[in-house]
Amino acid sequence: MSTVETVLGPLDADALGFTLSHEHVLVAMGEDNHHYPWLFNWEQTRNNVVRELREAKLGGVDTIIDLTTPDLGRDVEFVRDVAIASGVNVIVATGIWRDVPRSFWERSLDRTADIFVREIEVGIGDTGVKAGVIKVANDAEGVTPEAERVLRGAARALKRTGCPISTHQWAPAEVGRRQVEIFRDEGAPMDRICIGHSADTRDVAYLESLLQAGVYLSMDRYPGAEGRPDWRQRNEIVKALIARGWAQRLMLGHDYAPAPASARHRGDATASGTTRYLFLSTVALPALRRDGVSEETIGLMMREVPRRFLTGALP
Ligand SMILES: [Zn+2]
Repeated sequence: MSTVETVLGPLDADALGFTLSHEHVLVAMGEDNHHYPWLFNWEQTRNNVVRELREAKLGGVDTIIDLTTPDLGRDVEFVRDVAIASGVNVIVATGIWRDVPRSFWERSLDRTADIFVREIEVGIGDTGVKAGVIKVANDAEGVTPEAERVLRGAARALKRTGCPISTHQWAPAEVGRRQVEIFRDEGAPMDRICIGHSADTRDVAYLESLLQAGVYLSMDRYPGAEGRPDWRQRNEIVKALIARGWAQRLMLGHDYAPAPASARHRGDATASGTTRYLFLSTVALPALRRDGVSEETIGLMMREVPRRFLTGALP
């Protein structure tokens, strides 16, 4: 029996169910939650996150891959608490996002890998919570020298542990191409890597070139944002890749994080509308079905592919 590490411990891979490829539970740029906790209303923040996760669970979301790193304010004790309260399985990440800490600029690649391996095999801090995925990130600036060190450290940690890598890329500048080059140069297994935010471009030829390298793609950031493809355009990209035979390498998600409540807005309920964790389930997937994408293909992208990515299981 194959298992996956979640914030509540090992989970039978067959119990992963409907899985969102790239989400967040709590994000705080600059680690403000750790350094300036008085900026936040934590009771309200917890209530909001639990409400949205419970709504997601009721709407059929079984598991989310939470790609929140230390430089995004990762707090696995908060995540463990809301996972228990909501019933959603949450896989948490090691790795580093775009704000590469100064200490990583000079640390050797193998010592960087040691840090990620420790969080995968022993746990995060003294929580005993093990990371189930390694997150790395490169945006419009491309792969900077210090970020390249993180990518190489992540590739080495993957080779040592088998724990998969999920990336943030800026797809309009084809940053995933350089990520793949670096992972390949490190000899990392391509079928354990997912190149994320890939629905931010409508360039099917670029996306197909990544797939031909052997990686998975996370088609996330539904429903889109100003200046980026909207959800209908994201569906068009997904359908074009399905038509070319790539459904077995695609995963879908929102890159959503409920906003933490500010300490200045105390007590007022902000509940309104359907949680963004359910945009795919309530809007985008029904539209794909109407456009003729089969239930089998949707099940492949939402259940089977994430399971293979997380466990390394073969089709
Ligand atoms: Zn994200």
